[in-house]
Amino acid sequence: MGKYKVWMRFFLAISLMLISPQLSSKDSSLSAIEVGNEYDIVVKNVQVFDGSSGKSFKGDIGIKNGKIVHIGKLQTQQAAKVIEGKGLYAAPGFIDLHSHVDRGMYFKELRPCLNYLKQGVTTVVVGQCGRSAWPIFEKIEDQINRWQGEGIGVNAALLVGHGQVRELVMGMENREPTSQELDKMKVLVREAMKRGAHGLSTGLEYLPGRYGKTEEIIELVGEIVPYGGIYHTHMRDEGDYLLEAIKETIGIAEKTDAPSHISHLKAVGKANWGKVVEACQLIKDARARGLKISADQYPFPISSGYPYRSLIPRRTWLGREEPTSPLMEEITRVFDTLRDKTLIQLYTLVTPYTPISKHHQEYLDSLSRKELLRVVAGSLIGPALTGGAENSRERAEFLKRMENPAEAEKIRQEVTQYIEEWVGAENIIVDISVESRLIGKSLKQVADIKGKSIADAAIELELQGAKVTPMQMSLQDVEYIMKKDYVAIGSDGVAPFFGIGLGHPRAYTAFPVKMRNFAIDRKVISLPFAIRSCTSLPAEIMGWKDRGYLKEGYWADVVVFNPQTYRPRANFTNSHQYSEGVEYLLVNGKVVIERGRFTGELPGKILTPKGAK
Ligand SMILES: [Zn+2]
Repeated sequence: MGKYKVWMRFFLAISLMLISPQLSSKDSSLSAIEVGNEYDIVVKNVQVFDGSSGKSFKGDIGIKNGKIVHIGKLQTQQAAKVIEGKGLYAAPGFIDLHSHVDRGMYFKELRPCLNYLKQGVTTVVVGQCGRSAWPIFEKIEDQINRWQGEGIGVNAALLVGHGQVRELVMGMENREPTSQELDKMKVLVREAMKRGAHGLSTGLEYLPGRYGKTEEIIELVGEIVPYGGIYHTHMRDEGDYLLEAIKETIGIAEKTDAPSHISHLKAVGKANWGKVVEACQLIKDARARGLKISADQYPFPISSGYPYRSLIPRRTWLGREEPTSPLMEEITRVFDTLRDKTLIQLYTLVTPYTPISKHHQEYLDSLSRKELLRVVAGSLIGPALTGGAENSRERAEFLKRMENPAEAEKIRQEVTQYIEEWVGAENIIVDISVESRLIGKSLKQVADIKGKSIADAAIELELQGAKVTPMQMSLQDVEYIMKKDYVAIGSDGVAPFFGIGLGHPRAYTAFPVKMRNFAIDRKVISLPFAIRSCTSLPAEIMGWKDRGYLKEGYWADVVVFNPQTYRPRANFTNSHQYSEGVEYLLVNGKVVIERGRFTGELPGKILTPKGAK
């Protein structure tokens, strides 16, 4: 290249650099390079709910370098971007204390967490119920690096799951750990904390978490304390032994001094409705003694395991006990002829965690032959084995039995008894039916509309392929818990692929359901109190002193929503629908939703506890 050309290029580059600020002033997303503007973004004339349960006020919010620098009446509105907030409400971005979006977020497409952004959520706490990617599937630092490097829509705090730690060290063994095994678990928990975890979660109702006795949990929770970690627990029981489970949690907090947080507080099963009063009293007393006990709740009387159920018990439908799956046994027999190495290769064909990490390989190697068969057969075949009303052979057999009057009477009796013992016809709600007039009605109402007995109405619904949801919790209990000032929100939802599968609508709606249905429309709680439970309260529970309020010096996680239109759209009949009414959403001062649309920005950060190295 000649000297002349080199100089030309040099001049061209310099002049481009000089004019680029003028270019960027037209593009508000590049506001960080702006010189001269006092703010990057100003939200003006907006009704401000600052995150406390106090009164809202009208004002402006000035944002610079990701932080809120001024709030109130701004003297100057010189900003790269001005958002007109007239008629809109502004609140701190919502914080979801209990989320399972991490599984979906393994995939890049789901990393924006659009179903949560559309609700106004800016932060999630994941790795819940004893389940986290670390330590079996991938290293926590790999997860963090990938999420940070490629970007995430929301801020995320990661917990390390006790179930995963236990499974890596002891497999699915139902026994206490030896002292070496306990030491190994402690090392894994410590390692996770050093590398960015925010605490430990347990799923004491699940396997293998359930095998862990209280002493083991105390030992492991003790490991997170020096790092400023928090303990989140899906307790050992949420029904018949709810109170015992709460006492266990309080005991763990007492012994370890760790902030201890109860996930999805509720009383499951009709026989246990009302126990929430005593449960909340236990928590109140513990808090009065100075213990850091808190809880979260999703605003539904229905849990995730229960939507889209059948109305006829399996035994009645089949007319006999369920045979142990002969297909599964046959497949396991075939698999048993394969070498370990081949089994592991088969498993690697279906696991999303690829390539297999060192820890993951270590875990597979540690499995006994029987466990390996279980893992491989389960992951390959499990999802394919489904029965029910859509199984035409079973249906034909059932119809034949209904033709015999004595058999039909027996079926009716069994169905009646089942419905009564389940939750009662008035507490079973129709989700899906070919008769749209029945959707949302209780089984009792359907029977009345059709002029039939409960059993005949149930059988008719079942045969037309209807699906129902039993109310596992009472609405009264849900409201009782919601009014407590230590109960934050936790959606317990996932990041689904839009439109795929039947899911609990809470993944799309938990936040607007609480604000719209419980606060604005039914006034069970006030709107500022509802907002507090989604903002400053969860931030305080997690120990964050720079999020959860609209205050000067705080990170600019801000939701701006229209109080007229902010509402849930998904329900049990149509569970994949984005919520409406979030006009603007800022995560760390970056606009991720603008006029209701996702901008493509992924400014979320990984949040670690104070004291973490
Ligand atoms: Zn759970």
